[in-house]
Amino acid sequence: MSRAPDALLTPDFRAAPYWWDGVPRPALPETALPARADAVVIGSGYTGLSAALQLARGGRHTVVLDAADAGWGCSTRNGGQVSTGLKPGFADLAPLHGAERAFAMVKEGHHALAFTEDFIRSEKIECCWERVGRFIGAHNAKSYDKLARRVAHQAKGLEVEAHILPRAEQRREIGTDAYFGGAVYPAHAALDPALYHQGMLARVQAAGASVIAPCAAQAIERDGQGFKLRTARGTITARDVLVATNGYTDGVSPDLRRRVIPIGSYIIATEPLDPALAGRLIPKARVVSDTRRVIFYYRLSPDRRCLLFGGRVATRETDPVLTAPMLHAEMAALFPELAHTRLSHSWAGFVAYTFDTMPHLGQRDGIWYAMGYCGAGVALAGYFGMRVGQQMLGRKEGRTALDGMSFPTRPLYSGDPWFLGPALVWKRLLDRLPV
Ligand SMILES: Cc1cc2nc3c(=O)[nH]c(=O)nc-3n(C[C@H](O)[C@H](O)[C@H](O)COP(=O)(O)OP(=O)(O)OC[C@H]3O[C@@H](n4cnc5c(N)ncnc54)[C@H](O)[C@@H]3O)c2cc1C
Repeated sequence: MSRAPDALLTPDFRAAPYWWDGVPRPALPETALPARADAVVIGSGYTGLSAALQLARGGRHTVVLDAADAGWGCSTRNGGQVSTGLKPGFADLAPLHGAERAFAMVKEGHHALAFTEDFIRSEKIECCWERVGRFIGAHNAKSYDKLARRVAHQAKGLEVEAHILPRAEQRREIGTDAYFGGAVYPAHAALDPALYHQGMLARVQAAGASVIAPCAAQAIERDGQGFKLRTARGTITARDVLVATNGYTDGVSPDLRRRVIPIGSYIIATEPLDPALAGRLIPKARVVSDTRRVIFYYRLSPDRRCLLFGGRVATRETDPVLTAPMLHAEMAALFPELAHTRLSHSWAGFVAYTFDTMPHLGQRDGIWYAMGYCGAGVALAGYFGMRVGQQMLGRKEGRTALDGMSFPTRPLYSGDPWFLGPALVWKRLLDRLPV
């Protein structure tokens, strides 16, 4: 990979998330690790914090640990696009789980979007939440037909508002002719992910939970009825442990690590654009994605000044200076008007895919977990974090249609996804074909 030419980057370019300019990394109060707690949550993203909020408000002495800063993972790095969630649709799930359960599973995705809006409003979290809607661009004619069928034939009772837009009219939604038309989903939303995380963190602390970071959990061992955790700051015992580490799941839970596939996702932010240009690119300020197997996703910043453009241009690369020119080239291919626009930020994070493309939550060997949102966790992580927190409290409202699903892995897979590189090349190739 080649480094970004200097002309591509602004003088104050940062290899860090755009969102961190507005929400600096949190300075937590210096807290000693207590010797015991009712519940220890490993991971301080949306999943961990949402569960911790339930636990702390439910009267449990709760400690949240993060190996880095609070929220350092995907939860302050994502694109802030909020959708209805699960990757598989009713037609995929019904043959596997039966129509009734498949229906309830898809509904969980709808609940996740509704939960996120209710939560933000009821907790009064100022995070630029807006129901801007989504435009999905079809990357070839066949994909447009497929989108049109998907919009026209939605499963009964699972319908969501949507309409199709032919190529001749797509400039109403998007400032490019590269797509073959698209579909609009008006209910989808946008937010500032770091402000959302900051709001959650403040509520968790106000509810009495301790958030201790940096403090990596290093090992979880059985200890009578509960668990003993070795951490970078000493040992803590707890009745319950929740692993909420998603794409950063490491050797502390090898059994879960075998079940998630960490995949890099990369974003760039442009320098502030001329307002007329920004208005031409995405006239209704919707969040945008496409029908490719290796999708691009993008949106304007909440102040409508910059374009935030993301995609999987690599799989395991961790230097965002290397991925910046690759994303810039893809952005300029879609929007030639941006060919000479400079970048102010470039960053990356690891999402967690699963072998069945479903999220998973529950308990394995007594250890709770919730993870595997397949790149769509802004709504799902907060929602399933809330549900797993309720389950840990023994509350029946915590039950979900996903409970009891087996969490698949593959023989010889231990968490190192060597197969991603070839898979990415193959999928990119397919994306160039008219199929
Ligand atoms: C670039 C990018 C763009 C994205 N865009 C979108 C989007 O637009 N819409 C959408 O819905 N989703 C998006 N996602 C996905 C979404 O952000 C995630 O699904 C979601 O944030 C997952 O939240 P989480 O709390 O489960 O995990 P994370 O927020 O990743 O948190 C996991 C935490 O666990 C910690 N950890 C790991 N191991 C240990 C240990 N041993 N001890 C202590 N702590 C540990 C990590 O430090 C990390 O902070 C994107 C992700 C990325 C990377």
